[in-house]
This record gives sequence, C-alpha cells and structure tokens, in this order.
Amino acid sequence: MPIDLHTPLAELKGIGPARSRALAAAGFERVLDLLFHLPLRYEDRRRVAKIAELSTDGSYTFEGTLRNLRDIRVRRRGLTLVRGWLDDETGSLPVVWFNRPYLRSQVVEGDLYLVHGAVRRRGGRWELGNPTCESASAALHGGRIVPVYPSIGKMGSIGLRHLLDKVLGQLDLERTLPDRLPEALLERHDLVRLPTALHEVHAPPDGADVDRLNARRSTGHLRLIYGEFLELQLELALLRAREVRVEKDHRYTIDNRLREVVRGLMPFRLTGAQKRVVKEIVDDLASPHPMLRLVQGDVGSGKTIVAALALVVAIESGLQGCFMAPTELLAEQHYRTFGELLGRRYRIGLLTGSRSQASALRRDLAKGRIQLVIGTHALIQESVDFRRLGLAVIDEQHRFGVAQREVLQRKGDRPDILVMTATPIPRSLALTVYGDLALSVIDELPPGRTPITTRVVEESERADVYSWLRKELEKGAQAYVVFPLIDESERVRAKSIEAMGKRLRGFLQGHASAIVHGRSPLEERDELLRRFAAGDIRVLIATTIIEVGIDVPTASIMIIESAERFGLSQLHQLRGRIGRGRAKSTCVAIHGTLSESGERRMEMFGATTDGFRIAEADLDIRGPGDLLGTKQAGLPTFRVANIVADRVWLERARADACEVIERPEEFGAESLLDRMSARATDRYERFAGG
Ligand code: ADP
Ligand code: MG
Repeated sequence: MPIDLHTPLAELKGIGPARSRALAAAGFERVLDLLFHLPLRYEDRRRVAKIAELSTDGSYTFEGTLRNLRDIRVRRRGLTLVRGWLDDETGSLPVVWFNRPYLRSQVVEGDLYLVHGAVRRRGGRWELGNPTCESASAALHGGRIVPVYPSIGKMGSIGLRHLLDKVLGQLDLERTLPDRLPEALLERHDLVRLPTALHEVHAPPDGADVDRLNARRSTGHLRLIYGEFLELQLELALLRAREVRVEKDHRYTIDNRLREVVRGLMPFRLTGAQKRVVKEIVDDLASPHPMLRLVQGDVGSGKTIVAALALVVAIESGLQGCFMAPTELLAEQHYRTFGELLGRRYRIGLLTGSRSQASALRRDLAKGRIQLVIGTHALIQESVDFRRLGLAVIDEQHRFGVAQREVLQRKGDRPDILVMTATPIPRSLALTVYGDLALSVIDELPPGRTPITTRVVEESERADVYSWLRKELEKGAQAYVVFPLIDESERVRAKSIEAMGKRLRGFLQGHASAIVHGRSPLEERDELLRRFAAGDIRVLIATTIIEVGIDVPTASIMIIESAERFGLSQLHQLRGRIGRGRAKSTCVAIHGTLSESGERRMEMFGATTDGFRIAEADLDIRGPGDLLGTKQAGLPTFRVANIVADRVWLERARADACEVIERPEEFGAESLLDRMSARATDRYERFAGG
C-alpha cells in the first residue's frame, strides 16, 4: 500500500504497537513528523579502512569480526565497560565501549560487521572507542555517508535510519510535498527545492561534502533553515500588518509649547543616542497607528528619562500614561524618580499589590484625575480602568510576550506601547523574538561614569577577597555578595546560600549584613532591600533576585561567588548594580573549576563591560535557549535553524518576508500567506488565552 505524508507511523511495516506508542509519546505520529527529524551528524563510511594501515587518530569504518568481548568491573558507580578485539584480514585492534550494558546481547562474536568509531593512539597502541557495529549484510549503512539520528524514546539511530530509508523510498516527495516557497525566492538564494533538500539531509548522495553536512551547510540544510526563518518572518510580518492597519483614537499634540515644557523639565542634556530614540518614539506617537516599540539600552544607559519624555508628550496631549515595573521595589524606586522629575507639574500615582489606597487610586484613574500611574503587574488587573490611556511603558521586561501586550491593548483604546529592556539582545535575536516590534537602541552611556574594575579570581583566593572586602567596608564601602541559585534537584556540590551566608556574616562581624533569596517572604525581602538602599545594611548577601533594575548608587562592590555557574549576560546584569555613584567600583568574580565554555565566559567578563559584546558572546557560547526564555514568549523552536549561526539567513528571510507581504501576487504567494496567517492567528490566540 502506498504511503503519504499523513500515513500514521503505526501503519508502517516493521513498527509494532509498542514502537508506535513510544513514537507517538514523543510527538511522532505521522510520516510527516518523521521527515523533519533530522540527523545530529553524519559519519563518513564511504571508505573501509584496514587495521594494518592506521597512521593517524580519527574516525574510521572497518569491516571485520569481534572476539573476546568481556565486561570489565569498574568501581565508579554507574559506569560499565566492555572490552574486546576487532579483527580484519590485515590485523587486530583493541576495542572499548563505555556504558553499553546491552552490547553483549546485540552483537555476535565471529559475525561480519561494519564497525565505525574513533581510533586513538593510547599508551603506544591503537584503540577503537565506542564504535557502532552494524551487520555487514545490511549494505544500506555500508559504503556511504551515514546519518546519525537523535533517538526517539527507545528507538535509536540505527532503527530510525532504517525507517527513514524505507519511508523515503516509498514516498513520492515531489508529488506529496512540493515546495510551497516562491520559486523566485529559492532562485534568488540558489536554494534547492524541499523534496531534494529532504533527500539530501536524510540520504546524502555519495559525492556530498561531509564537512558541510556536519556544519549544517549542505544545500539541503540551507533550504530548510531558510524555510523555517521565512515562515516565521511571514507570520510576524502578517501580525505587524494587522497592528498597523488599526487606527488609534487618541492623537498627540507635538508643538513648540510642548518643546518648551520639555526643556523646562530636563535635569540634564540627553546623550546622542537618547535623542535619537526619543525622536523615533515621538514619530511613532505622531503616527495614526498604535506604537509597538522596544527600547534596548544597556544597564545605566538612561532609559528612564526617555520613557519620561514620551509620557510627558502623552500627558501634555491630555492623555494618561502608565509605567509598569517588574517588582514592587522597582515600582517604588521609579515612583520617587518620576516624582522628582515631574511631580510638580502632574498628578502621579503608585499602584502595587500591597497599597491600601488602591481603590481610591483606581477611582482617580478611571476619572482621569491621575495623569501618570507607576506600578507593578497590578496595573493590568481587570479592575484597573483608565479614562484615556495614551501610552503604556513596560520596563525591564525582556520576556514581555504577546499576552501582556494583548491585555494592555484592551486597557485603553489601542494605547501606544513602549517596552524597555536592559538585556542587550543582539539584533538577530531581537528580530526573531520581537519580530513584530520596532526596535530602538540606546548604545551610549551618559557622560562621567567611572568604569568598573573587574577581577576574575580562583576560589583559592577567596580569603584574600574577603579580607579586602572587610578593609573596604571599614573605609565606608557598601557591597553585594551574590551566590548562584541552587536548584535542589541538581546535585551540585555548591553550598547553600544560607550556610555560606552565615559563615560570611560571622566573618564580617561588626558590619550590618543581611541575606535575601528567592524563598524569603516578599515583604521581608523588600524591607531588607529598602534598608540596604538607605545604607543601614552594609552588605547584602543575595541570590540573583537583585539582578534587575535595583539602583543603589552608594554600593560600589559586587562579589560574585561560583561565577562559573552564571551565564555571561547574567554576570553583566549583576555587575550593572555597581558603578552608579561617584565612588570607584569593583566587581570580583570568584570561580571554581572551569569547563571550556566557563573559561571563555570568565575571560570575556573580565575583558569588557560592553553589554552588546557580552550578549553576542553569550549567544555564541551558550546558544539562545535560556537567554530569553523564548518558550515563555510563545516562540517556535527551530528544528534546523540556529539564530546565532544562521543570522545571515534570518536577515535575508526578514527582508524577503516584507517584500512578499507587499506584493504577494508577484511571488505567487497568496496561498502561502493564507496558511501563515492562520498559523499566526493560532499562535496569537493560544498565548493571549494562556
Ligand atoms: P537604565 O537605562 O538602566 O534604566 P537609568 O534611566 O536608571 O538607566 O539611568 C541611570 C542613571 O543615569 C540615572 O541616575 C539617570 O539620572 C542618569 N542619566 C540618564 N541619562 C543621563 C544623561 N543624559 N546625562 C546624565 N545622566 C543621565
Ligand atoms: Mg531602568
């Protein structure tokens, strides 16, 4: 019976009920799902090597028989070893397998196998480590470039290879999966069509370049990468187009009187970058369509004043503004800042979960008596109503998602929205995550900052660091000491913050200190942070809860413990807590044993305080996964594409998507757009609802 893309895997020959259940549990139900399960890497088995001719370390395929297989006892728990010999007609080679407990039941001594693995010279003789063994009679995996798949449940690479081989043999891809991307675009970028691409990545032709395949740079991979990016960018462009078509009811008055008012309020001269961003925002406000703009600016780059000016434009135009901060403490901090800046001219309110006057405030907001409200998430509660909300600012929210935006948009009549983040997201990532937001960057710090000195030291120097700290405290310094948050399910030999903190407090005798962490009750935490800000507490021992936005200009020392356990961007955020006042600031990162990537992180951290360089490096080292919490933001994870390595293709796809949206007929892309539009709606609704 012929199969097609929608054939359930259970109907394929060789897949019993147990296997199909396991596949289904992992999300693989139909043939189509399997086609996009791509190899992790490729092994070059086109040449069969001879044992006698080995001369350099490397990956080799041999054809031979196995003998003398035996389990070796290893004292370390959880490790099993199997040793044996591989013979071909030219010689013998010792073989070792780690953690392959079932190996003995899977291979038969004396049978002919194709054996592929890494050969290394150890202690004067060659040894083959962890090779795969496949029956030589299954010629399929012999002299060719062999894809190695990530397992699905219990189904390993070999089984999957057989399965995919069968599926590709029976499917007429040209008919069932024609390429839906516009020909013109494929031609523009010299890309192969989808059926060819799938054949190439699953069953590379003999002449293929293994290095390119492994680098995900084969023509097939590039087609898949581009396809993923283009579909996402089309979706985002469609969403953006919907936003743009909407007209807002409110209008701003931008005239000389306003400029006069602004001049009178300014406490300092804006930097060039601030001026540029203010102009971008004002242009958006003046447009008939609602603004949706992300302002990125490194810690301390002066985002607050930019937001304040935008809010002044709103208030002077007879509209209300709101400013949402991620924590109560930060909301209070901003309430004070805005009070000093604008309090003489406007009526400003503070709305946080714990304020008892909340109901009076809500009434004033609804009546329009309050012109500007600062608050936490309490601002987007059902019960909060505005009379005429013009502009909503969301601060320090790098995980701002479609859902929050949706809620805010319902608050008023399509208010303008400004999101600000200190997480310096590289442009490539911003395009993916916030593809439907306009982007402004403040890439210049206000003048007169004293640069922070960073020292990266080993644990053996800890005692010296704390002796130095004690001396600095005696001279009147104020300090943070930060410990990584320890996940208890993770069995790491890191000491818990309470225990470490207590020892440290003992050592700091005479200097007021406090411990705060994520499990401290909220009021207690805020109270301690307040006392630290007031200077009553001299050393704040904390987890990363102090990471974002805390502004205590008198604190000039930051000590980071187990620094190797933090991501680079996180370290940078932590360091951004100091260097805010007149005193010269020092950050000390104490680290334990470093992995290779840990070493790169520490080196980069010591070498630069430039947030954008840090973020780019972080992405390169770590990959984008947890930098942004893309899952929370409701974004797709890519199967093939990687937004760091493939950022060139991301930019191309974005440009192409804009073109396609403008002139779909020219690209014959009407039905593609319909499909993307449906998908965008689906994604949008899932997140707005959930
Ligand atoms: P962030 O971008 O991290 O939110 P802030 O807006 O809190 O930074 O600004 C950090 C500090 O720099 C504040 O004390 C602010 O008053 C000051 N500042 C901002 N812009 C300027 C400027 N153009 N000139 C001088 N000081 C500035
Ligand atoms: Mg800020």
